[in-house]
Amino acid sequence: MKKKIISAVLVAMLTVASLAGCGNTAAESTTAEGTASAQGTLVVGTNAAFPPFEYVGDDGQPDGFDIALIKAIGEKIGMDVQIQDMEFDSLVSSIGSKIDVAIAGMTVTEERQKTVDFSESYYEAVQSVIVPKGSSIASAEDLKNLKIGVQLGTTGEFIADEIEGAEVSAYNKAVDAVNDLNNNRVDCVIIDKNPAEVFGAQFADKVDVIPGTSFDFEPEFYAIALPKGNTDLANKINAAIQELKADGTYDSLVKQYIEE
Ligand code: GLN
Repeated sequence: MKKKIISAVLVAMLTVASLAGCGNTAAESTTAEGTASAQGTLVVGTNAAFPPFEYVGDDGQPDGFDIALIKAIGEKIGMDVQIQDMEFDSLVSSIGSKIDVAIAGMTVTEERQKTVDFSESYYEAVQSVIVPKGSSIASAEDLKNLKIGVQLGTTGEFIADEIEGAEVSAYNKAVDAVNDLNNNRVDCVIIDKNPAEVFGAQFADKVDVIPGTSFDFEPEFYAIALPKGNTDLANKINAAIQELKADGTYDSLVKQYIEE
């Protein structure tokens, strides 16, 4: 992880340096739609507490797979990317006002689609369960009547809310749920697979990570949340994702940030 974060930071610094070299003369004017961005700038909301997709790098700036992906998309569509770190739960409602789009390991859900559109999916995930080391929790049945930690407003919370007898504690930051697991305030944490693995490695002496397949959790698809009805922006972003997949950039970002 350390190596990954350091190389990620270097890439981020190079990206910032190259963008800075281009200048952005249109930045002062506002768009006709009156959205968050100035022309030529895409204001992107994220929640930089969801490694490896987004976290605060050693230089204090947001970094991670999603951040690198959206910057690469920005280059393809000729827009400067400005990252805005905020609570996950505020992202969807901020699109069109504080931010233009959001990239945050966000799962496409029907509920969210009432408010925003989504790009094509760029990653398939599933929820995992973090348990105390040596725990006997192994199946869906075992989750009943437990104290479950989740991140506020996430699909992990939606799943936990459906579990019979569960007492759900929702945290703004996923790591706070994991800390409460380590302090015995919750019995397990339901969170997306990749951050679960990162936290599992971080607290390897204290926790185990059980894959979602043991609980029959459904696959989830991450996508960029977009302003509803802005098909022009959606088309541009989808075309950029296709190009990044075709030219190998997407795979190299997966290797760099997710697989290492
Ligand atoms: N994939 C989950 C969701 O969309 C969690 C995302 C996150 O916590 N950043 O709800």
